[in-house]
Amino acid sequence: MQTKKLKIIPLGGLGEFGMNCMALRWEDDIIVIDAGLMFPESELLGVDVVVPDISYLVENKEYVRGIILTHGHQDHIGGLPWFLNELKVPVYGTEFTLAYVEGNLEEHELLDETELIEIAPKEKFTIGPFTIEPIRVTHSMVDAVALAIETPVGVVIHTGDFKIDLAPLDDRAFDLHTFAEYGKRGVLALLQDSTNVERSGYTPSERAVIPRLDEVFSQAKKKLFFSCFSSSIYRIKIAMELARKHGRKVAVVGRSMMESTEIAQDLGYIDIPQGLVINPGQMKDFPPEQLMVLISGTQGEPMSALSRAALDNHKFAHIDAGDTVVLSSRVIPGNEKGIFRVIDHLSRRDANVVYDDGSNGLIHVSGHGSQEEMRLMINLVRPKFFIPVHGDYRILRKHAELAMETGAVEHAIVIEDGDVLELDKDEARKKDKVTAGRVLIDSGSSIDVVEDLVIRDRKILSEDGIVLAVLAINKRTGKMELPPEVIMRGFGGADITDQACEVMMKTLDELSSEQKADYGMVNEKVRVELKRLIQKTTGRRPMIMPVILEI
Ligand SMILES: [Zn+2]
Ligand SMILES: [Zn+2]
Repeated sequence: MQTKKLKIIPLGGLGEFGMNCMALRWEDDIIVIDAGLMFPESELLGVDVVVPDISYLVENKEYVRGIILTHGHQDHIGGLPWFLNELKVPVYGTEFTLAYVEGNLEEHELLDETELIEIAPKEKFTIGPFTIEPIRVTHSMVDAVALAIETPVGVVIHTGDFKIDLAPLDDRAFDLHTFAEYGKRGVLALLQDSTNVERSGYTPSERAVIPRLDEVFSQAKKKLFFSCFSSSIYRIKIAMELARKHGRKVAVVGRSMMESTEIAQDLGYIDIPQGLVINPGQMKDFPPEQLMVLISGTQGEPMSALSRAALDNHKFAHIDAGDTVVLSSRVIPGNEKGIFRVIDHLSRRDANVVYDDGSNGLIHVSGHGSQEEMRLMINLVRPKFFIPVHGDYRILRKHAELAMETGAVEHAIVIEDGDVLELDKDEARKKDKVTAGRVLIDSGSSIDVVEDLVIRDRKILSEDGIVLAVLAINKRTGKMELPPEVIMRGFGGADITDQACEVMMKTLDELSSEQKADYGMVNEKVRVELKRLIQKTTGRRPMIMPVILEI
């Protein structure tokens, strides 16, 4: 007789950064940990987001019992609308995580039909054969948990994202004790966040940015723009407290920033004294040295509030000579060009830009633990099997080596998306493979699920065609050097080439010459306008690729 096995099946985030998703299966019961998305790399032109291929879950839909979220970052919850379109299952998360999820689901009109179940550290709950205990961890995101999952063959611990911040800003301590207790009783497998495996030492506390930011606040002569990820509640809290200390009113600009601040305030993470926050429209009533503008757009996203402000294109946020702009975030690889373009625009306006250039003290810290924190966790949990999660193959591999060096694990196993790892009390073995991959999604709608990368191009090209919009723009003057050209393939019927050229000319005319010189801005505007025209006149949704030649 064949003995029963536990199956661990990663569907996203093992082999890439982002779109985290992991399935656990015991017989006819499946639970899913996280449902993330990933933002497309620039070579995936014309695509808005990327989510994991969940064919395996869809094929086994009657067995999927729920999705459990570790925390509210987009690479863990952002795929939910697409998941829930296919799987009608309850979603479990902590209070703050669910507050984010609600907003997300509301946008996709999925909120009413989805069952959201709040979970909390130390409160065990049961789903089929699994009994799950959320364990408090610290991270750059508030209210993050790891999951200890009791299965018929032993305990599996999934850390989620974490760093060990021994002085968290919300006084919610990392629950090292509970990890140690599980370690003492025996843990079958530890699935641990690999993100920072190449960094030695410890990751500094979220508090570590305070001294340098305090200095920046004291030196700022005019308005102070503070930009960070809208989900960085700790960073927003620090900025608000510094604004109060230095006698500045706070205007919150950008939709995501406003929503985040509101949720954080409602749930007690930020305590905003009466009168500190003003409406953006009231800024003109205060002298510049009494203002802080909390603004979104640290990654140079072309349509973000900061990018628009940097080009004098925002209703309320105006950059003047002598203003200070703080980018309290890291430069995510791939975004350098966009970020430095925004910094250029700001510098041209004689703003003083403070960003993470590695000098002059910390203005940003990572949310992921470095090597010593990884080693510490492994030593507390002492699992039989160690499985690195979250990262490229190289990173997973290094993490497995690091785990073996601790002497505290019996085996380290590297698995990737689609692998099926079968475990019993004594053994872990890679068995078969299931479908895994990336699904590319165009625009914010849940019906627009485009197929997996391999067949995507073929499919779009055959059904909806392709549009190449070629513009030659002089980088210095912003002038169009040649008439625009549009190449369309795969469309039958109406020829709208002339109309498309007109739309492009018109779009460009409406931009200032500085905006015209901004590749990202032109690219996005042209894409949006062409999409609108083509959809209206033909009902098609071709792949639109603006090709902008900077001359
Ligand atoms: Zn995270
Ligand atoms: Zn993450």
